[in-house]
Amino acid sequence: MTKAKKEFSITFWGTRGTLPAPGELYLRTGGNTNCTELNCGGHTIIFDAGTGIRELGSKICNGVGKGNIDLFLSHAHYDHMEGIPFFAPFFCDKFNVQVWCGTLEGSSSTRETVEELMRPPYFPVGPSVFTADVEYLHVPRWAAFDLTPEIRITTAPLNHPGGATAYRVDFDGRSFAYVTDTESIPGEVNQDIIKLIQDVDLFIYDSSLTDEEFPDFVGYGHSTFEEGMRLCKLANAGAYLAYHHMPFRVDSELDLIEAEIKKTQPKSGVAREGDVIQL
Ligand SMILES: [Zn+2]
Ligand SMILES: [Zn+2]
Repeated sequence: MTKAKKEFSITFWGTRGTLPAPGELYLRTGGNTNCTELNCGGHTIIFDAGTGIRELGSKICNGVGKGNIDLFLSHAHYDHMEGIPFFAPFFCDKFNVQVWCGTLEGSSSTRETVEELMRPPYFPVGPSVFTADVEYLHVPRWAAFDLTPEIRITTAPLNHPGGATAYRVDFDGRSFAYVTDTESIPGEVNQDIIKLIQDVDLFIYDSSLTDEEFPDFVGYGHSTFEEGMRLCKLANAGAYLAYHHMPFRVDSELDLIEAEIKKTQPKSGVAREGDVIQL
């Protein structure tokens, strides 16, 4: 008898980059900024705290029991952090939340990064209002460690202004990687990313731009959906989903991008808010 596999699911609560995009032209993809939830056999891992984390927080608080939550931040730009003050589990003493962030240039610790976000004149109250048991942790640029005896985390540094961290999760024989925000260099392959996503089952990738748009955005720290396809092939990944959609990218345009991806990589596509994927 084969042993039943444990649940390993991914839920997208926000796949928009840079700025939220409300309005009818964006409804099918969703307008919330970066937030992705992993359920690894009942253990909650969250990548990024964009506006999508508000609704995820409500869902978690309406569930039963107390719990440990691991929140991994890719970096401190607003579109990845702005939901932190609105994440309900921070205001509930039955939760333990571990907030992780990688090395950031100009900011010395994860705690200080959150304190900077929540201080006057930007925000009325500081993180001292949190009633959950919150722990602030640092992830080295290159790390590989066991979050639990069954969950392995691996990291890699990304090419982004101020720094950013990519994460890979290996759990119960399957794997997922979270790779945003990063600037690609035309004609060069980012070997750090290749190493991280080698043979991964699924990864999300910074697909803010198209190859055609890229020259106008050099220096902003982003990449293209075509680069995601190239990395997927080179790293022998199972599939990839375009992520971090620009706020001007309407649903119809993302449909065209998805059709283009599926021409050669039918298992890959576009990450949309509300999508749930079982690995
Ligand atoms: Zn971003
Ligand atoms: Zn960024």
